[in-house]
Amino acid sequence: MAPGRLVDEEVAWPLPTVSADQYSYEGAPRNVAYIQSLHYPKELRPKSYEIQGTHPDSQILFVDVKILEATGKLPYLGDVFIRGQRIEAIGHVPQKGILLKDPKVRVFHGKGRTLMPGLGDAHAHFSWNGSNLDRLGDIALEEHVLLTARSARCYLDSGYTMCFGAAAAKDRLDIVIRDAINAGDIPGPRYLANAKEIARTDGELVAGITAFADGPEQFEKVVSHHIDLGADQVKLSMSGEEITETRSAQDCYYTDEETAACARTAHNRGTRLCAHARARDSVKMCVKHEVDVIYHASFIDEEGMDMLEVKRNRHVVAPGINWLIATLYEAEAFGYPQSKAEKVGYKKELETAIRGLREMHRRGIVVLPGGDYGFAWTPHGTYSRDLAHFKNLLGFTAHEAIIASTFGVASLFMRSHEMGQLKEGYFADCILVDGNPLEDVEVLQDHDKLNIILINGRVHKAARSEYLPPSMATHGNNAIVPEDFPEVKATMQREI
Ligand SMILES: [Zn+2]
Repeated sequence: MAPGRLVDEEVAWPLPTVSADQYSYEGAPRNVAYIQSLHYPKELRPKSYEIQGTHPDSQILFVDVKILEATGKLPYLGDVFIRGQRIEAIGHVPQKGILLKDPKVRVFHGKGRTLMPGLGDAHAHFSWNGSNLDRLGDIALEEHVLLTARSARCYLDSGYTMCFGAAAAKDRLDIVIRDAINAGDIPGPRYLANAKEIARTDGELVAGITAFADGPEQFEKVVSHHIDLGADQVKLSMSGEEITETRSAQDCYYTDEETAACARTAHNRGTRLCAHARARDSVKMCVKHEVDVIYHASFIDEEGMDMLEVKRNRHVVAPGINWLIATLYEAEAFGYPQSKAEKVGYKKELETAIRGLREMHRRGIVVLPGGDYGFAWTPHGTYSRDLAHFKNLLGFTAHEAIIASTFGVASLFMRSHEMGQLKEGYFADCILVDGNPLEDVEVLQDHDKLNIILINGRVHKAARSEYLPPSMATHGNNAIVPEDFPEVKATMQREI
């Protein structure tokens, strides 16, 4: 194991030459340009999955909505027309008068509410049980499949339409749920699936959910095996985690040769890697060997920051910051008091991470929200706390936090040409929010304010009152609400 701990109590940010003012900013979202400059090699493109079931003739018209495109433009009032899976017109809808009178067009009256793209999570664990960590590995397969499906639905209920899998508790949990979502069999966000995280035998973080390898040859085999299973990306568990008390977040378990072997194997097969990399040396190894997605990066040092800045069009960082905050301040009710969390190092890690992440954002490194929901004190359904943390702690504006979660995660999917923004021709994955998320990003945490949720041009959530014209909404109990367009249903049985 490399002795990679930060010796100094303090990291170098803010740098002496940078005044604190440079971290406070209220202008146009800076990270639109950062995300646009991301450039993964073409051969690493994951499959362009499509969700089945949307009737091609389905027509939905949103009128009088405040459109938050997630392109960087400020919200504006207008209408949005959706045909089949995709947005056909935005802002000004031609022939709106005719569409309003057409009984085949489903009309939703926004009344000034905000229509924005569905959110995205860059580090999702559908198979985490929201409960006792030590028992995660003991859940029987059948129950675990159901639990994983339930989390997928919970993401969509929470306004999330894109999730990037960051490890599953069993080999194929993520993969079968992804396939079931895409087949239209179960509700859930668009998903890029992972398999188990891969650790060295001396580096396991949670019992019973890890695949093991030691030495470059074994790593090659396990990475290949996960791709054979159907994983869209492969997870390396490179550093420790303070809660284990035996494997420090400042220790990196992988060797250079092992990391290089993983990268070579995955990239040769067109697959990307993501890594649990809290330790200083694990972050540097990720950059050196092109491990595409860097999770946490808490203990990055100046050299690592410079390396990452040079390669900022090749990597994204997803800190999973809510885990640190909740473990430190909110775990007492679950038997993990703050004094204990501070003692093992979470306070120091959180402070160090915040400073590093603010500096990354200042330097144009893409930092994305999401991460590690599904533990007892980071329960499923609370995912958009990340956006508030980005705003309150990491120097993001609310608009930048939203851009990161929408446009940013669509770029992580390598599909920002058709997802993550409200634009003509893009998939109709969107949420109607009762509030202004640019002024109050916390509103996204209130499920009752997520009035309508659409994925792939289909209504996942809308109260009955949304289906009624405004004149009938108050006394419309007798109104006849026509059915949505029927789902195009395929058989559940597929080739194995
Ligand atoms: Zn995780």
